[in-house]
Amino acid sequence: MALRFSEDLRQAVYQANLRLVEEGLVVGTWGNASGFDPASGLVAIKPSGVPYADLRPEHLVVVDLDGAVVEGDLRPSSDLPTHLELYRHFPGLGGVAHTHSTVATAFAQACRPLPCLGTTHADHFHGTVPATREMRPDEIATDYELNTGRVIVETFATVDPHHVPAVLVAHHGPFTWGPSPRAAAENSVVLEAVAQMALHTYALAPATPPVAGPLIDKHFLRKHGPGAYYGQR
Ligand SMILES: [Zn+2]
Repeated sequence: MALRFSEDLRQAVYQANLRLVEEGLVVGTWGNASGFDPASGLVAIKPSGVPYADLRPEHLVVVDLDGAVVEGDLRPSSDLPTHLELYRHFPGLGGVAHTHSTVATAFAQACRPLPCLGTTHADHFHGTVPATREMRPDEIATDYELNTGRVIVETFATVDPHHVPAVLVAHHGPFTWGPSPRAAAENSVVLEAVAQMALHTYALAPATPPVAGPLIDKHFLRKHGPGAYYGQR
């Protein structure tokens, strides 16, 4: 019998999509979240162009890592090839989210990485959230969404995607990810918040330098990694 996508994870992917809207990160249908089920090796993602108000868990489209539809009658989000490229290349991902949230997208449109300017950022992202390079005309003309994933993977050649679970795609917007669909959506929320803080910081003091390494390490590592001690066990 063929493997099926986990029902619990289907609910989690549905909730992650709703969270993006509830947090004001998605205007219209400009956003999508997906989840990876390691037991079945399948991905569930929002269908293309379905208004969030009409979205139901059963509308999610389940595909394999090559993008072949396994469950569902609707077409998957057009950004599916980007999500799949991240699952294929970043082992351990359980969720991916994409929005056009205003301030994170402003940094992406400016092709500017988002440096760590304070501890709020360092609590979630271990240093600068990188911006991708601009895509070449041939990468845009053919397999655009897949190539978007490829430039993200290229950007993380020297960055651990589990320590910096976010990227700003040049002239486009943010993608975030995490060990679950919930974590991926949460990282979209946090990314927009720290991007807003950075924008205000630069308005007040355009030459603000990034936080020095030891403070970034302190805040990131007390919440993440083997020696984490922040919060409840
Ligand atoms: Zn987009």
